[in-house]
Amino acid sequence: LLVALADAGQDNSSSGSDEAVSAGNSRKQKVVILGTGWGGVSFLKNLDSSKYDVRVVSPRNYFVFTPLLPSVTSGTVEARSITEPIRRIIRKKDVKFHEAECTKIDAANKKVVCRDSSDVKCVGKEEFELEYDYLVVAVGATSNTFGTKGVEEYCHFLKEIEDAEKIRGRIVDCFETASLPHLSDEDRRKLLSFVIVGGGPTGVEYAAELHDLIHEDLTGLYPELQKIVKITVVQSGDHILNTFDGRISEYAEKKFAREGIDVKIGSRVLGVSDESITFKSKATGNLVEMPYGMIVWSTGIGTRPVVADYMKQIGQTDRRVLATDEWLRVKNAEGVYALGDCATIEQRKIAEDIAYLFKLADKNGDGTLSVSEFVDTMNNVRVRYPQIDLYMERQHMKGVVGLLNDAIKKEKDLKLDLDHFSEAICKVDSQMKSTPATAQVAAQQGEYLARSFNHLATEDPDEGPVRIRGGGRHRCQPFLYRHLGQFAPLGGETTAAELPGDWVSIGRSTQWLWYSVYASKQVSWRTRALVIFDWTKRFVFGRDSSR
Ligand code: FAD
Ligand code: MG
Ligand code: MG
Ligand code: MG
Ligand code: MG
Repeated sequence: LLVALADAGQDNSSSGSDEAVSAGNSRKQKVVILGTGWGGVSFLKNLDSSKYDVRVVSPRNYFVFTPLLPSVTSGTVEARSITEPIRRIIRKKDVKFHEAECTKIDAANKKVVCRDSSDVKCVGKEEFELEYDYLVVAVGATSNTFGTKGVEEYCHFLKEIEDAEKIRGRIVDCFETASLPHLSDEDRRKLLSFVIVGGGPTGVEYAAELHDLIHEDLTGLYPELQKIVKITVVQSGDHILNTFDGRISEYAEKKFAREGIDVKIGSRVLGVSDESITFKSKATGNLVEMPYGMIVWSTGIGTRPVVADYMKQIGQTDRRVLATDEWLRVKNAEGVYALGDCATIEQRKIAEDIAYLFKLADKNGDGTLSVSEFVDTMNNVRVRYPQIDLYMERQHMKGVVGLLNDAIKKEKDLKLDLDHFSEAICKVDSQMKSTPATAQVAAQQGEYLARSFNHLATEDPDEGPVRIRGGGRHRCQPFLYRHLGQFAPLGGETTAAELPGDWVSIGRSTQWLWYSVYASKQVSWRTRALVIFDWTKRFVFGRDSSR
């Protein structure tokens, strides 16, 4: 039977590729996508896969809805409920998936080297190569340990489904072990000392989940341990949630203080041993050595080895993430795009091009610009410098005349010289901010890039290799990030939200907003149903406390 199945499989795949070859006389462009996270899947879902020969490579054959990972650590949501198989996502698409890890991007030869690193593999044939015309790098990032001693060995990270499940098991193990009859109070205190390093959104949300799990579910089951449990958050900055509005971090700090979650701000971790974690207060210089039962390390992102190696090849050294332009093309590379956590956009400053722009605008070469010259030029270059639109939007300006009026204010008829011109448009550079490493950014970038690919494939089918041109005339708009706000779940059915337009909302109703947004953002109806079912189950029966 196995042989028959294998034969059948082979038959299918070979006839499939024959079809692909015969379908178009001109060879389809090969697109290879690395990664099936937020960036990769959003690209894949929006790409018209009939126009390209598409292959996806990822060591995991599923997508993970990372914003709900902290809920998996406490058992509020089951791991299976937040994963969607890639093969379901590509079911109706003309796409091939290969479960393997890309170990090297060979920039010179336009190919990637991949390796099957899973348990089942064909010995001696683990490695294979794929050629590409276009490569989409969306491999995400690792957890950054900043080289701190002992972190790799003794701390838990919270990046993958397996991490969340391990954490869940470890919490319950700590409680069970602390309940053994022959332990001293000191032993029990150590076992039930939970430490979180990093006071960003993930660390804080995890701390809140842990607190809820312990106080809503576990203390009822282990009543004698209730007084011994301790949660500590170690944060290097002066506040937790310091990328959020000040009102939110203040609220979170007060809430945590009230609940007995000990927040150590301004503290840097020096090292971790199998027994204890050592950190130093920046203000007082005091060293604290704290025994622990479990540490979760959540302090930001680091570079994957394959990306680091690639950056060396293309001369992007001393960086944490790949630099791209506003069309998501990797700098110093050909046919390579990068998005999500492994990339950052280096937005071109308009100030760098002032002299050029002025010359361009000054059509009669008299050294001044008339109002109409200014307006025409700005309208033409808006696409190249998205910060212009962003600036006008924030200042509630209608059209570029507003920009001009902003500079000259008084006399309507004034002509602009170079200084006035610089003054008028340099302000717009202040709108540039690097995009944060979030799912929201990765998903928007994936969608944007897919649309660009679709557009280019339809526009000029005979033009040979399609490309998104840089400089001069553009066939695609540059990527522009639209921030839709962010949530910080704080536990106890309370969430803080920061929405566009300086709108902050904290409380139980915001928690309901959170539930509905996160349900709506699910990638399939299947996971949406599962997640809602898990939430309901938790409301009715509480969380499951078995390992
Ligand atoms: P990822 O989603 O990490 O995907 C990377 C993919 O690449 C994975 O499929 C991985 O298996 C694959 N891969 C890795 N190595 C290789 C390789 N060598 N070859 C091929 N494939 C490879 N963001 C929000 O906006 N809101 C939130 O509430 C939020 N909560 C979060 C909670 C947690 C616990 C975490 C960890 C993150 C959270 N984020 C949140 C951030 C968000 O998950 C990331 O910004 C987002 O996942 C980035 O997308 P990505 O596609 O760049 O990378
Ligand atoms: Mg991805
Ligand atoms: Mg395998
Ligand atoms: Mg045990
Ligand atoms: Mg990024």
